[in-house]
Amino acid sequence: MTPEDSVLAACDAALADGDVVTDPDRLPSYQRDRSTGTPAGQPIGVVFPRTTEQVAAVMKAAHEHRVPVVPRGAGSGLSGGSNATDGSLILCVEKMREVLSVDEINGFVETQPGIFNTELREHVAKHGLWYAPDPASKDFCSIGGNVNTNAGGLCCVKYGVTRDAVLGLEVVLADGRITQLGRRTIKGVAGYDLTALMVGSEGTLGIVTKARLRLRPIPAPAATAVAVFADISQAGQAAADIMRVLTPSMLEVMDRVSITAVEQWRPMGLDTTAEAILLAQVDTPGDAGRKEVESLLEMCSRAGAVEVYQSEDPAEAEMLLGARRMIIPALEAQGDWLLDDVAVPRSELARAMREFAEIAQRNDVLIATFGHAGDGNLHPTIVTPRGDSAAAERAMKAFTEILDVSLACGGTVTGEHGVGSLKQHELFRELDEPARDLHVRIKEAWDPLGILNPGKSLPRW
Ligand SMILES: Cc1cc2nc3c(=O)[nH]c(=O)nc-3n(C[C@H](O)[C@H](O)[C@H](O)COP(=O)(O)OP(=O)(O)OC[C@H]3O[C@@H](n4cnc5c(N)ncnc54)[C@H](O)[C@@H]3O)c2cc1C
Repeated sequence: MTPEDSVLAACDAALADGDVVTDPDRLPSYQRDRSTGTPAGQPIGVVFPRTTEQVAAVMKAAHEHRVPVVPRGAGSGLSGGSNATDGSLILCVEKMREVLSVDEINGFVETQPGIFNTELREHVAKHGLWYAPDPASKDFCSIGGNVNTNAGGLCCVKYGVTRDAVLGLEVVLADGRITQLGRRTIKGVAGYDLTALMVGSEGTLGIVTKARLRLRPIPAPAATAVAVFADISQAGQAAADIMRVLTPSMLEVMDRVSITAVEQWRPMGLDTTAEAILLAQVDTPGDAGRKEVESLLEMCSRAGAVEVYQSEDPAEAEMLLGARRMIIPALEAQGDWLLDDVAVPRSELARAMREFAEIAQRNDVLIATFGHAGDGNLHPTIVTPRGDSAAAERAMKAFTEILDVSLACGGTVTGEHGVGSLKQHELFRELDEPARDLHVRIKEAWDPLGILNPGKSLPRW
């Protein structure tokens, strides 16, 4: 028997009927995530464990026979993190979607990893509680994927990213051992913070089989404010000014290219002449909240906004938020697209946005810039005519130049989508030599045979 056959046989023995798939017609659905420009290889099969013990059995067999394993949540990733590599086994947690318990007194939920973010939010809402991290993909991304990419979202500007919500994790290690990381308490400093190390590790250190996530009381309904700019860098300046003195519960930016793409895809009366729109929400209740909105709009006017208003109509507010969440599918419909994800210190937002526009001009490509302005996290997305290979080459050049700008601004090569295979060769540009060495040694300690998600995140594997 080949090592691959031995692993598949062990999976067949450990998993339920139908939970090991090798049918070539079904494999392509699990071969890649939503990114473009990332390689995807041919897997030997996909397994759908339902319990931690089944995950452990799969990993034990893979470890024994040195077969690479690609962990997969819902495949909504944008960096190629869950793309198959040749000869790998895809371990998909989509059948592990049970909420195990909600602890109302201590304010946390324990859940299996395959549940969608929105499903979890709906579940805890029945207990009067709120799970804060809300990626724009919340309706179709899994909690396990969120943990492994340290996903951000629209509310994160006030309530923190996934890492801030993770209290503990159950992890199956590369050799099949099961470990419980983290704690049930808000405070705790015993040992190294291995929970935090797992968050954002992109499936390269272990398989998350359970997450204990911090919950909050449901926030008050938010007021929505809009500022329209004739110059994108003014929008960046306004976002930086706002964040110096206020804590809005959302502060998003959409530039003209993004607004136009949404309007062409789903016409909703957006102002396509605006160079940029800042979309903000404030959930501070009462008079204090009203004053915050006023002061936020005043700062936008001072930064140069040509129009500012508070949206009083909840339906209009929902429409604007919907427009923001629709940008990626709207750009997908425009042509070939290559999405970047960078974060810069907020003081550099205006510069970064201006320089992205210059990159678009210089390389003769369309760049849509949108994202979580309050966090300094932008998604400049390069759109080119479908199938135009010369334009695709210019897009790749623009992609690298965007990363250059981010690093020159003191920023990072990925704010929330992860390194994956898309930026595997960019990661080490950001790390100094001792940090690179530590990364390599951490990977060797957790996964000595290098079987977990090879070809992702770190350049050496
Ligand atoms: C339209 C759209 C909007 C988006 N908006 C946002 C946004 O606002 N914020 C944001 O952060 N992201 C956003 N994303 C990106 C994506 O949804 C997130 O990265 C999400 O966290 C991925 O979850 P997933 O379940 O789809 O994971 P996958 O894509 O399946 O996997 C992502 C990574 O996690 C690993 N992984 C998954 N599950 C496990 C597990 N149980 N154990 C170990 N490793 C695992 C994989 O190996 C891979 O490296 C968006 C994507 C789309 C398409």
